[in-house]
Amino acid sequence: MTTEILKVNPQSPEPEAIARAARCLRDGGLVAFPTETVYGLGVHALDRSAVLRLFEAKGRPANDPLIVHVAALTDAAALVLGLPTHADRLARAFWPGPLTLVMRRGPAVPDEVTAGLETVAIRVPAHPVAHALILASTVPIAAPSANLFSRPSPTRAEHVLQDLDGRIDMVVDGGATDVGVESTVVDLTTDPPVVLRAGAVSLESLRAVVPEVALAVRPTEADGNMPMPSPGLLSRHYSPRAPMVLYRGRQASTREAVRAAASAAIATGQRVGVLATDDDVKTFEGLDVTVAGIGDGSRAEHVASRLYAALRELDIAAVGLVLARDFEQEDGLWRAVKDRLQRAAGSVVMVPD
Ligand code: AMP
Ligand code: MG
Repeated sequence: MTTEILKVNPQSPEPEAIARAARCLRDGGLVAFPTETVYGLGVHALDRSAVLRLFEAKGRPANDPLIVHVAALTDAAALVLGLPTHADRLARAFWPGPLTLVMRRGPAVPDEVTAGLETVAIRVPAHPVAHALILASTVPIAAPSANLFSRPSPTRAEHVLQDLDGRIDMVVDGGATDVGVESTVVDLTTDPPVVLRAGAVSLESLRAVVPEVALAVRPTEADGNMPMPSPGLLSRHYSPRAPMVLYRGRQASTREAVRAAASAAIATGQRVGVLATDDDVKTFEGLDVTVAGIGDGSRAEHVASRLYAALRELDIAAVGLVLARDFEQEDGLWRAVKDRLQRAAGSVVMVPD
């Protein structure tokens, strides 16, 4: 199959392009499009065979459920068994936006979408392209990230094509996404509601609306505040092709440790890549390493928007080892950044003295 690329204006997408992509979705096609978080790979959520094709195109295991994207809370209500307590307030505060709510699923939602769970994850994206596409398609759109399973999520159309060219019908190219990490997933079927995945909406801002929101205590969703799990305990996800080691601790010692590890690996003939903030870059002067920049290390928004692209740059440079240092900050968007760094490293974390 040839993957068609439709370039659109991200702020006000051309109606003809949107109509064309929406028709493709309604007919069971696979269409990648930008959201405010990362690029999603959309499919008609109520079309079982199309949903199965999506799992196949991504190489995604069937037990990993999809998020269903709709245009408004009223459309979400049609897919669930009653709106749970807090849904209304959270939706008012954060929709449209990068918050996914897990609720009890209604009979309209196929098993294939929810991986057989009795719950369904729903979000109303804010990106003008995503919103226009969902409205024009007139159906709910199941959309996981538009990458091959376990690879870094795509934040540009070219990343989608790196993974899925020839495997999907269309890419709607609306330029780089804004946030760069995925939505926050909150389970509303429990009391109190629980954050299953840290993401673009911070725990602090959720708690400003629903104070009792809790963090999931699950090793697979480890958060910076939890004791460090053993390497290998957490799932490897959002990862570069090469093995990655994450250094955790005080900035000065992690910087030094990454430089020392890079030197040692180079001495054994390895090609080494490092993730580096603007301030880290000079640390690597004079070393034969591939440096992938992640921007201003004092701003989570910068790092989040560059992280996945940086991991892909290191893939393209064909490095044999990726080194990075963790951040000391714990709050706001840092929680999501740290979660993705840890998963990219498959929880191979070193703590230098
Ligand atoms: P992705 O769309 O690739 O960012 O991944 C979607 C993620 O949302 C899944 O991997 C789950 O972690 C979460 N998710 C989707 N549906 C459910 C559900 N019904 N219950 C809990 N988590 C869900
Ligand atoms: Mg994904």
